[in-house]
Amino acid sequence: MDAAAEAVRHARAHRGRTLDRLTRLLRYPTVSADPRHAKDMSACATWLARTLRRIGLADVTVYRGRVAPVVTGVWQGRPGRPTVLVYGHYDVQPTGPLSAWASDPFRSARVGPHLYARGASDDKGQLMAHLAAIEAWLATAGSLPVNLRLVLDGEEEIGSPTLISAVSRGWPPLAADVAFVSDTWMLRPGSPVLVTGLRGAVRARLELSGPATDLHAGAFGGAVANPAAALARLVAGLHDKTGRIAVAGFYDRVRTIAGKERDRLARAAPSDAVMLGPAQVTAGHGEPGFSAFERVTHRPAIVVTNLSGSGQGRAVVPARAAADLNVRLVADQEPATVAQALWRHFRVRMPPGVRGRLTIMAGCPPYTLDPCAPVVSAVNSACRKVYGRDAVQLPSGGSIPFVSMLAAVRRTDVALCGFGLPDDRVHSANERLYLPNLFHGTELCIELYRQLATEVNRTDQAGVSRRR
Ligand SMILES: [Zn+2]
Repeated sequence: MDAAAEAVRHARAHRGRTLDRLTRLLRYPTVSADPRHAKDMSACATWLARTLRRIGLADVTVYRGRVAPVVTGVWQGRPGRPTVLVYGHYDVQPTGPLSAWASDPFRSARVGPHLYARGASDDKGQLMAHLAAIEAWLATAGSLPVNLRLVLDGEEEIGSPTLISAVSRGWPPLAADVAFVSDTWMLRPGSPVLVTGLRGAVRARLELSGPATDLHAGAFGGAVANPAAALARLVAGLHDKTGRIAVAGFYDRVRTIAGKERDRLARAAPSDAVMLGPAQVTAGHGEPGFSAFERVTHRPAIVVTNLSGSGQGRAVVPARAAADLNVRLVADQEPATVAQALWRHFRVRMPPGVRGRLTIMAGCPPYTLDPCAPVVSAVNSACRKVYGRDAVQLPSGGSIPFVSMLAAVRRTDVALCGFGLPDDRVHSANERLYLPNLFHGTELCIELYRQLATEVNRTDQAGVSRRR
């Protein structure tokens, strides 16, 4: 029996233990956006560090982060072989109203083939597949086929501030020949997806102020400019009637989708009906001439995520009003240029009597995987072995700032191949993981580590120069 087959056999024999570990990991309410969970973040990081040592990684460190710790595990027993950075995150989105959950979000509930809990799919369940794979290799072969740098982020859901500044500073634990991330979905069980691109993002807040204080609506209404009404007009002006973005220069650097790619997506990507199913809307909406999948992957978007004002429904002319914007970018848009275009758009339309300010909270560039990267063939070989087929190559509409920055700053090829499913309800109530994906995902990781050892080396030895 070859070494990978041994490791797979071990992983199958220890599925119960993997599931127990995941159940324990899911009990930590690691909501990075909520400062009240700071202690939970630290406790979870400590537990993860202990678990990494238990699965056989000796070199484990918990680094203090800006909001939550970063946990790393390093294994360097293969001089001459490539170094693989495996990234996952242990923080989760807030639960939202508990009344929308059928069970406690932090006490996982098993129903049929699913495990329900916040973070079950995003990303605790997916990172657990890697831990099980590492353990299986170390327990059977006593070694890994590649050198490994495992990085577990506690701040992904808030934009990874610690790791992003670490990437820019050239932090040594992030040096690797290739990176692998499981924080995405498959088309359906047995149908793996290699994500070929992520959208970039700009988070911004437009604040308008008018009168010095909230004013009586009867005494002043109609006689002073209203920041809430002005805000509504500015926000409405972001799109034209068809749904196309009306900000001058916004589409300047957006690539057109090649005809061949559109044909391929029409066959391989989810249909409009599948894409919009979870939204339960009567009709799609957006830039004309594109499918729903194209709109959320190859086309940019400005999403108004919240509108608020100091009046809060009282009978006043509010002194202040604000809109939160989440802008999703595609190749080759740049966060800074887009932020400038947005501000120009608002500034020239600002009505008299109100002052405006646009604050950029965070930004990351879009990411595109080099189709010739050796990691692509490594993923396909591993997928053929485990799923009997190549991965379907599809772009994603999501953003993982750390991945974008790793690729932009360090020129690392990042393969995103995950074990979630489109109906996992990630970020929503009743999030769940389809457990067979955890176990097959473990086997994929086992196989992938082996494939990366040969594919990445082979290309380097052949001296193949790749397009960047
Ligand atoms: Zn995630």
